[in-house]
Amino acid sequence: MSISFDLTGKTALVTGANTGLGQAIAVALAQSGASIVAVGRSAMDETERLCRDAGARFHPIHADLSSLEPIDRIVAEGAEFGRRIDILVNNAGIIRRADAIEFTEKDWDDVMNVNLKSTFFLTQAVARGMIADGAGGKIINIASLLSFQGGIRIPSYTASKSGLAGLTRLLACEWASRGINVNAIAPGYFVTNNTEALRNDPKRSAEILGRIPAGRWGNPADLGGAAVFLASSAADYIHGVVLPVDGGWLAR
Ligand code: NAD
Repeated sequence: MSISFDLTGKTALVTGANTGLGQAIAVALAQSGASIVAVGRSAMDETERLCRDAGARFHPIHADLSSLEPIDRIVAEGAEFGRRIDILVNNAGIIRRADAIEFTEKDWDDVMNVNLKSTFFLTQAVARGMIADGAGGKIINIASLLSFQGGIRIPSYTASKSGLAGLTRLLACEWASRGINVNAIAPGYFVTNNTEALRNDPKRSAEILGRIPAGRWGNPADLGGAAVFLASSAADYIHGVVLPVDGGWLAR
């Protein structure tokens, strides 16, 4: 059996694809042959140009995943464009920073709604299609180092990403026999909007860099290989893992 990372003929739905890690993942999947359904809150022109430059078909869907309201529309539109959704990348996520002692209910609920609740129900809706036609699929959740570690000043984020790691394992157990691979990627410290506050804090920024064995922050493109691998047939027997892509952070 030859090993293939080719995604030709597959349709990948990527949430939060307008920028950062989601954009880089969409482009990597496009470069490997997948058609892209890009879900996001804001304009996805740049992602569209990059994916089309790679020769991919591209369909943007504007949606706010802070509630479950758009989920049926996203799945219906995505499946119509792509015939079916073969690959789902749950990348959209937010973070709120404040000391745990004064953390607000709003900062708790806002983060949980996007990072965990909408992720679960979008995944459920996509998986129903994958199970109904019997062809299975690949689901990739974007977890975090805070799926393994505590961190500081980000209680709802740590709870959501630790929860997402657990959910990845549960869904893998329920759906592995249905031909669906559910796995997660845990990015380390990457240069995106999500880490802007950290990078603007000279002390925290230096502490973080000093602990990364690779000696640099991650660039969004560093995630592409892991995403393509987990989306491809090369990963057909991989279920329920949370794969760190972290420059060696967790090995330290
Ligand atoms: P980012 O802030 O640049 O991107 C977040 C994406 O999520 C954006 O596309 C944004 O539009 C989308 N999003 C947020 N709320 C949304 C909503 N209500 N509806 C629809 N889309 C919404 O940051 P990023 O670093 O690219 O983050 C992508 C994912 O990677 C997130 O889940 C984040 O937690 C995770 N992550 C990032 C890092 C890092 O170092 N940058 C590390 C670990 C995990």
